[in-house]
Amino acid sequence: MQDRLEAYDFKHAHASPDEVWNEFHEQNRLASLVRTTFPRSSRHPLVALVTCMDARLDTNEIAGDTRRYYYVLRMAGSALDEKDEDMLELAVNNGVEVVVFTTHTDCAAEKMAKNAEQRKQYPYLAKAVDERQARFEEFMKRPGIESKINEHKLLVKWVDLDTSNERAIVHH
Ligand SMILES: [Zn+2]
Repeated sequence: MQDRLEAYDFKHAHASPDEVWNEFHEQNRLASLVRTTFPRSSRHPLVALVTCMDARLDTNEIAGDTRRYYYVLRMAGSALDEKDEDMLELAVNNGVEVVVFTTHTDCAAEKMAKNAEQRKQYPYLAKAVDERQARFEEFMKRPGIESKINEHKLLVKWVDLDTSNERAIVHH
């Protein structure tokens, strides 16, 4: 399939917004034909992966799987909030059997939270990092999660990723 956006790359300064939009829309039409011809598997993800938004972490590399059969929640400092806990439990109720919660070395959010000056500038993120462990434990204690763990229908792991090579070191 040819990449027909080429005529509208940054070397061509004279494409009008309408022309760019039309090309974008056409590209979407072409791309969506691929899924019509080769439908996605209907298999439900079995793993939900929680990672920091750090750009050095590539979730396809961490999971060692390019088929994208994973849920991925990415958030600053791996700090869950209420809606993320809800979403994870919803994913578990839809078939997820393993939740992998990750933190990582050299995390900018963690470093910021240890710096008194920076904490003043980024108070919400500092608070979220402070409460990260408690949120994780809160998630584990949710009735719908705790019962599945006790029945061995769900495994929740906390791993620390080595940011330099993405190796997972099991935390607990
Ligand atoms: Zn981070």
